[in-house]
Amino acid sequence: DGVPAVDAVEPGGRGEIHLVQLYPRDMNIYGDWGNTLTLKRRLEKRGYAVQLTDYNPGDSFPADADLFVGGGGQDSGQFRVMEDLQKIKPVMYELVADGVPMLAICGLYQLFGHEFRTIGGEVLPGIGIFDLTTVGGETRLIGNIVTESEKFGTIIGYENHSGLTRLADGQQPLGRVVSGDGNDGEDGTEGAVTNEVIGTYLHGSLLPKNPVLADHLIATAVRRRYSHETLEPLNDTLSQKAREVARNRPR
Ligand code: GLN
Repeated sequence: DGVPAVDAVEPGGRGEIHLVQLYPRDMNIYGDWGNTLTLKRRLEKRGYAVQLTDYNPGDSFPADADLFVGGGGQDSGQFRVMEDLQKIKPVMYELVADGVPMLAICGLYQLFGHEFRTIGGEVLPGIGIFDLTTVGGETRLIGNIVTESEKFGTIIGYENHSGLTRLADGQQPLGRVVSGDGNDGEDGTEGAVTNEVIGTYLHGSLLPKNPVLADHLIATAVRRRYSHETLEPLNDTLSQKAREVARNRPR
């Protein structure tokens, strides 16, 4: 059918993708590093070389990046990155407007909204890529979660947050909660999507169990960089097994 078998693709033969992990020192819990690994491996299997950059506060900003991913963190980690985040806000806005794909999990997802107000009343300003705000709650929302997304189908993960996130009218969620709590445990939404930026509470890691999401981010990156329109399918048997196990777990 004209699509080369994946094994036949020369390593790096299709080009290079610059993958940036935002704030891995402070924002990287509950297996979030697995998202970076998944993107890297799935790109490499398709014949793309991957330049992987860790971006931490104070580093020079890799504005030529093709794909960003950032994880969750405790409130203390969020405090450590919030100033730097304000510094990179203008360039982040340009990249978002330009259709650069990004994935922000939990603590970083909250900071991609307008603000996070902790239970102690401290306000951490976000960068407002998403039209949402988060307020620290009394109890933690913890457990396995299944959501349904129009675009990506069933998304499976694990949530652990005390922040309650409210989407503004018109802010598109990532999915609807099937089981679990999601953004605020009440309105039935989970996560947010703006342009090619996906925010979600799902750890676990998210991408190994949700290859459709991983490939969406990758497809967006390679289309933007190289005008490549197709991604060779990969063998996702293991990932399908992991989905079944996770989906049938009690909360
Ligand atoms: N500190 C935030 C909360 O508990 C984020 C937690 C996380 O990233 N897992 O709401």
